[in-house]
Amino acid sequence: MRIIDIREDLARSRSRKYATRPLRKIEKLVVHHSGTRGGTPKSFAWYHVHARGWPGIGYHYVISPDGVVFKTNALTTVSYHARGANLGGVGICLVGDFNRSEPTDAQMEALTELLGLLLHHHPGAEIVLHREVKGSRTSCPGLKFPAEGLPR
Ligand SMILES: [Zn+2]
Repeated sequence: MRIIDIREDLARSRSRKYATRPLRKIEKLVVHHSGTRGGTPKSFAWYHVHARGWPGIGYHYVISPDGVVFKTNALTTVSYHARGANLGGVGICLVGDFNRSEPTDAQMEALTELLGLLLHHHPGAEIVLHREVKGSRTSCPGLKFPAEGLPR
């Protein structure tokens, strides 16, 4: 698995800043899809900052269809990706709309490896789908996402 740290290359707000947390607060690894056919961490960051008015990109990691993992926020950043689970959540977004199609094998392999790595460092954390977060009203990460393939 290749992780590319592109935090410095992403749009972020000049005036707003995300809160931070100690790493011990991490308790949920939240799996998302982008809900789009394409897109890149840069385009998602631009949208989150300029259309939604957020301090920066909402996700901590973005996984492209070819299985490359992009690191987009520090794990200490309390970014916005799953209302009700942001404080202790790590947001992992797979690029694609999995209500229409399935993630690629490369994406699922990278996700499994990334989750394994994160669980190694944060053993108490729970893997959840965005739609499983209490109070959420979304199908994210899509009805065709193969949830049975997750290491949980
Ligand atoms: Zn989501």
